[in-house]
Formats: sequence, C-alpha cells, structure tokens
Amino acid sequence: MLSKMSLNKLQKSSCLCCAHDRFHAVPTLPQTIISDGQIWSKPLQKHICENCGATAHIVPLSDHDIEEIYSAPYSLGGQHTQADITRAENYKNWILDTLDIAPTKVPDKILEIGCGNGLLAKKFKDLWPSATLFGIEPATQASKHAQSLGVEVSQGILEDLNLEHLNKKIDLIYSVNVIEHSLDPVLFLKRQKAFLADNGIIVTICPNATRPNIETLFYDHITGFTQKSLLEAAKMAGLILKDIQVAPDSIGNFQIAVFQKDGIATKLDNNIPQIIEDKENYFNQWQKLDKTLCDKITDKEVVMFGAGEMGSIIRGLAPNFWSKISAVTLDTLTNDMFHEKNIIALDKLDTQNNTLFIAVRPDFGDIVETRLKDQNFKTDSIHHYISH
Ligand SMILES: [Zn+2]
Repeated sequence: MLSKMSLNKLQKSSCLCCAHDRFHAVPTLPQTIISDGQIWSKPLQKHICENCGATAHIVPLSDHDIEEIYSAPYSLGGQHTQADITRAENYKNWILDTLDIAPTKVPDKILEIGCGNGLLAKKFKDLWPSATLFGIEPATQASKHAQSLGVEVSQGILEDLNLEHLNKKIDLIYSVNVIEHSLDPVLFLKRQKAFLADNGIIVTICPNATRPNIETLFYDHITGFTQKSLLEAAKMAGLILKDIQVAPDSIGNFQIAVFQKDGIATKLDNNIPQIIEDKENYFNQWQKLDKTLCDKITDKEVVMFGAGEMGSIIRGLAPNFWSKISAVTLDTLTNDMFHEKNIIALDKLDTQNNTLFIAVRPDFGDIVETRLKDQNFKTDSIHHYISH
C-alpha cells in the first residue's frame, strides 16, 4: 500500500505538532459531522504528517471557520445527565491513577481548561477542598452550569485568561478533550507552561489517533494526535512529555499525556508508516460506506441499534443509508428522538424480519451482535465495514 502513496511535498502548511512539511493525504469525505453530532456540510480533506503521524486539515482552519462552528447551535457541555456524572468520575479516577498523587499531597492551585459543565472540576473540588480550583470555558451555557456547581469559572479561552490575582503559579493544569480543537496546539501548551509552577504538572486528555479513531472524522478536531505528535508538540513548547497512556475501556479511544517543565521524556515506539497505512484504509472504508451499505442491506426498513457518536457519524457520512433507517432502538430509553428518528425500546420492537443495524464502537460490535442474534434479531453491524 505504501508504495502507492503519493508524497505530497508541495503542501503549503507545516505540521502543527512538529513543523515538518511532508504529508500523506487520505481520501476526501464529501461531508462530515462536528463533535456534538451535527452534520457539517463541507468536504473533509485531511492529511497525515509523515514525521509524527498527526492528522490535520489539508487547508488549515481559520479563526473564521472556528467562529462558524461555534456560532452554529453547538450543544455539547450544557447537559448534565447521569452519563455525564459517570464520565466525570471515570476521568477523575483516570487522572489520579496516572498521576499517582499521594493522598496527603494536595495541589495548591488547579486549573481546568475547557471545564464544560463543571462536573469534573466539582469532583476535584470535593476531593481537595483546601485547593483553589478554577476553570475556563468559552461556552455560555456550560460555564453557567459550572458556576451553579460552585466552580469558579472565567468565561473565555486560555488566551484571554488573566491569572495575576492568584499571586502564585499553578500546580496542576488539566484539560479533557480540548487540545484537539486548538488552532495551535504548541501555543496551547506554551500558554499552560507560562502559568505552571516549577514542579507543576500539565495533564492533557485527548482522543488517541495513534490508531484509526472516529474522532479524526470530526470537522472541528483540528489535530488528531499520535503519541509521537504529542511528544513533538511538547518539545516545541519547551515541555517534557513525562508519560502517556491509553484510556481504560470504560473511557474509550482516548489517551492521557503528562507534561512537566523538566525531566526525562518517555520513550515511544510509534510506527508512522503503519499509522499512515491504517488511516488510509480507515478513510477509504468511510468513503465507501454509504454505497456499500445501500447495496448490501436491501430491506425496505432498517432499525438502528445505538444512539451515540457512531450513529451520528453514520448519519453524516452514509446519508442514503440513514434515509432507510425507520427508527432507532436502545436497551434503555434516555430520549424519545435521535436526530430526526424516533427511538423505540428494544423489547417493543417487532421488526425481526428487518435488519437491526448495530451502530456502536467497532470494538464492542461482536459482543452486541452476539447478544442481539441470541434474541433472534437479524443483524448487521458497523464493525463488519469499519475496522476500528
Ligand atoms: Zn508532525
């Protein structure tokens, strides 16, 4: 496969993580979605840095593009469901496990960048009541929610933050799923470094793009980070990547990176040519998906199992197949609607002659499909078409 790849030496941009200028373009997708699941009706044209494996837009997004994304009715961060609370607890535990902070060693000052609805900040505030904890969040609805939980929030972005009133630098700065939205990840890290105490720690959680991952399909994800691209971005920001770990299954395809001002960087072994080949195949699979599914599943009506990110991306990237979906089903109902489709409880479903199409993370496809087949459903599943 690699021998067929064109080396796009003439790209104007340089890599946002390592500043190299050789990229491999992956297949273009006619439209895609943004992180909150809305369809984004612009072609997705991404490429991969041949040095560090970072995935990025071929034409870098501008401030104007970012304004356009967030001026749409962007809906992440305002909600506060049981799933959000569980997620915050999982993230808190993951951060604590990774940092291995002694219970007696309470950070004095803590900053969460992009604190969203404040649920995670509240967890740390409850854990370390003597610490000064504050958050920064651009979205109005989410920051109001965080404030209602007692979290001190500055509404805005990192670049606007004024910390002079603290009189001291920060011991722990963390962000969860923020850096991939940054137009300049190196600058994003540099600004954190400027606020960091000498022995302080920066913790960055983001999607793991070392292997193909649905998040690289999101239009508003500016960079898909491999481990090496985080290592390189840290170097450019004058930081050391001390540790990097992939998330436990309960969290999903994410990774946690720990940066400090000094020390020895962790050793990595990313096979960049393999990463490029895997992503090329992955984008190819998504490019063909709509036609493949329409050709294969000829039932008049299809019910889709799953109402999450995978369902939203199928709606965006396989619109003709989506139009054949008559309803969506789940084991437990949390909403009445998924986008414009009704949700029907699985035990109320009477469509055993029609295909139940499983739209969950490909890693879980086998388990879910086996269970539904045992309930006598005729099934098909996204994991037969998309490998990761
Ligand atoms: Zn790079």
